[in-house]
Amino acid sequence: MTKKPLIAGNWKMNGGLAANQALIGALLQGLDTPSCDVALCVPAPYFSQLKALLEGSAIALGAQDISARPHGGAFTGEHSGAMLRDFGVRYAIVGHSERRQYHGETDEHVAAKVAAALASGITPIVCVGETLAEREAGRTEEVVKRQLAAVIHVNGHCLSEIVVAYEPVWAIGTGKTASPEQAQAVHAVLRAQLQHAAGDHAAGMRILYGGSMNAANAAELLAQADIDGGLIGGASLKAPDFLQIIAAAR
Ligand code: PEP
Repeated sequence: MTKKPLIAGNWKMNGGLAANQALIGALLQGLDTPSCDVALCVPAPYFSQLKALLEGSAIALGAQDISARPHGGAFTGEHSGAMLRDFGVRYAIVGHSERRQYHGETDEHVAAKVAAALASGITPIVCVGETLAEREAGRTEEVVKRQLAAVIHVNGHCLSEIVVAYEPVWAIGTGKTASPEQAQAVHAVLRAQLQHAAGDHAAGMRILYGGSMNAANAAELLAQADIDGGLIGGASLKAPDFLQIIAAAR
């Protein structure tokens, strides 16, 4: 089954009106017709600016989170799927380890957010990954399977619409990347789990790698059989680096 890789940038809590304009200008100047799908998950206050800057380009707009609740009501600080759709948001990162760690998001909460994204026609990029302590205790497989199982349990009927991102927590923002072999081993576990739940559809689903992916290591990671793209934090803030990663995804 053929599938286009997806390269998604996660700006995290970075950006500024002037800096965004410069970064998007440089990206669009350097981007021909990419052979992969490209998205940028930006802070919500910049949706309006980014919607205008990305109009008609090959870069889709993404969010870094989404409310688990349907639109409307007394939920201070939340952003509904309908709000995201108003700005043309196509992807939403869900269950990033920073949300799990600093905002107490549980597997069940993440699963509910995935359902909310799907109900709004937004593709969730569902993050799973183990901490260093969990890896060292030999619990990597158990942890990522548990995290994905919660999502499958709630969203099994439309599983093929989701994107999964394997992001070992110890590799995020640390400069430590999983080796291509380490990453592929976990991706194969996740693929098998998806296969069990979604049958033949699993082969067409995208499993991204995230965790200090950069211009130097992207090609080798993306060459692995079950790595179908990348979720990129730090390197997505530098146009030449992000462009090189996009070029490596074919
Ligand atoms: C991320 O934020 O999802 C991420 C992978 O960050 P970094 O590329 O900076 O490790």
